[in-house]
Amino acid sequence: MVVIQRHFESQIAAWAQRAYPNEAVGLLVGRRLGDDWDVHRLVPAANLATTPATQFVLDPTAWFDAEQIAVQAGMAIVGIIHSHPDAPARPSVHDSASGDSLGRDLVFLISTITKNGMRDLTAWQWDGREYQEIIVQWN
Ligand SMILES: [Zn+2]
Repeated sequence: MVVIQRHFESQIAAWAQRAYPNEAVGLLVGRRLGDDWDVHRLVPAANLATTPATQFVLDPTAWFDAEQIAVQAGMAIVGIIHSHPDAPARPSVHDSASGDSLGRDLVFLISTITKNGMRDLTAWQWDGREYQEIIVQWN
């Protein structure tokens, strides 16, 4: 399960809308509690993909920014979030191809964004072969 603060929803929606019609990507700062994640902060990152409407390549310098924010808050980097413009909030073929580089310890959030706003937010965990969907609980 991943717990997301309700006030965070509008921030995620605005962030995804700014990148639209391209995919937005960012890192998530929070806490890992056993098998659960508690997400507190979104640290936006540049999408360096050559075809950013259908995939993302996270700017690696974002890890340093997020790490600093996490340490100052006494938290950790717990995941990656990206948007799917006008597409289902499920891992794409490209997302699954990069699952091994993400690993099992990070939560993978995907939001569907349209010109009218955010439609859906789902959470996934890589199990070594594929993404398994996990429950999102809004707090
Ligand atoms: Zn994707």
